Amino acid sequence: MPLVHPSDPDRRGRPDVSVNPLFTREPTRIPRDRLPADELDPDTAYQVVHDELMLDGNARLNLATFVTTWMEPAATRLMSEAFDKNMIDKDEYPRTAELEQRCVRMLADLWHAADPDTTTGCSTTGSSEACMLAGLALKRRWQHRRRAAGLPTDRPNLVMGVDVQVCWEKFANYWEVEARLVPMSGDQFHLTAEQAAAHCDENTIGVVAILGSTFDGGYEPVAEICAALDRLADERGWDIPVHVDGASGAMVAPFCDPDLVWDFQLPRVASINTSGHKYGLVYPGVGWVVWRDADALPADLVFKVNYLGGEMPTFALNFSRPGAQVIAQYYNFLRLGVDGYRRVQLYCREVATALAARIAGLGPFRLLTDGSELPVFAFTLTQAEHNYTVFDVSAALRERGWLVPAYTFPADRQDLAVLRVVVRNGFTHDLADLLVEALTQALTQLDAQPGPQRGPETAAFSHGAAAKPLEPRE
Ligand SMILES: *Cc1c(COP(=O)(O)O)cnc(C)c1O
Repeated sequence: MPLVHPSDPDRRGRPDVSVNPLFTREPTRIPRDRLPADELDPDTAYQVVHDELMLDGNARLNLATFVTTWMEPAATRLMSEAFDKNMIDKDEYPRTAELEQRCVRMLADLWHAADPDTTTGCSTTGSSEACMLAGLALKRRWQHRRRAAGLPTDRPNLVMGVDVQVCWEKFANYWEVEARLVPMSGDQFHLTAEQAAAHCDENTIGVVAILGSTFDGGYEPVAEICAALDRLADERGWDIPVHVDGASGAMVAPFCDPDLVWDFQLPRVASINTSGHKYGLVYPGVGWVVWRDADALPADLVFKVNYLGGEMPTFALNFSRPGAQVIAQYYNFLRLGVDGYRRVQLYCREVATALAARIAGLGPFRLLTDGSELPVFAFTLTQAEHNYTVFDVSAALRERGWLVPAYTFPADRQDLAVLRVVVRNGFTHDLADLLVEALTQALTQLDAQPGPQRGPETAAFSHGAAAKPLEPRE
């Protein structure tokens, strides 16, 4: 007995069942570079994409990246439950917005802000966006100061070491600020306090100090830089703020180097960024930026958006972006706490320093850093004659599945070619043993070749500073 009579007037003329178009299955050929005209069933589409991705490198053997390649199953579950949350919909997802704010307060406290409960900050897609926002705040503050004094604002500059990540060169290019890049010289691979002060003038919107450098994992001397700028303020009257680019180090130093003074304890530090997806241990992409107080972030940069019923202050380059990463950051903060982060980062550092020492012991290499700041170290070939370059070593390791980038340093040490290892959560002493084994085999093979095969032109790796804009700015 049908519950709805076939002659029910409402159903007349609509005899077919309507099927969700996604439920139909049509096998078809798949164009490579054009949107296919027809559909595939989900299992086929999944398999095609999955198989293609098998040819990507193995993330666990990738010693080039700083970015998280493993999270716990519980974190993965939480993220998949939150994939549908748009971070910008703070009115619809007030709890997600609240978790973001809690993370900001936790970071403000970790970085010794005077009043973590009122400090401003936000999540971003990564450190790059965070640095753009911090740089904009520096520029706008400088403009306000200059205008108030009746001075011109047409020639802003930002002082930083040439070892900055490419995001700072992008910032300078996109927002038309002169990038004053202090070159390396001799064994000096980082910005020094003296050089920072020497490059400043009345048009300097700020100085960027890096904790630590992507080139070699070393920390820049933030406290010394601040002290030099304090002297400059006394002598010349230029009150120049410091931004700390702690993409990696702001989630390492607080746990591993509690006595190092680099953060808001220094009155001159106006803002700090970090990548939640580096040593914050979250999958890409989430970053954070925190300003020391309301004065450090000019109010005229903050938009009050009246959106879907709520008034919401935002300072961001993006509008929509995923909320799951922010939720995962909060999960990690709860899950690990101070002690958990300390254990994870100290273990990374222990693996890094032990591995660096073993590599130094192999003979052909000289360490530039030893993994005792960021769990990252760079090494080069000794002065002696070698049948190979660092680029040959990188290629030979790649044949064995390991990604260890080789690259040359920036000005004025372009003559220096190095290999770099980044130790991340999940890289164990056991894996380090296997890397040393692979390196030893590679060196035996390379020793037997007639002479060096590869130069810097073979380096596929770019962590930034060597990257050039497509069209040079005049
Ligand atoms: C990685 C890195 C950046 C860029 O960060 P993303 O999170 O990849 O956007 C900026 N500065 C430093 C020092 C870095 O290590």
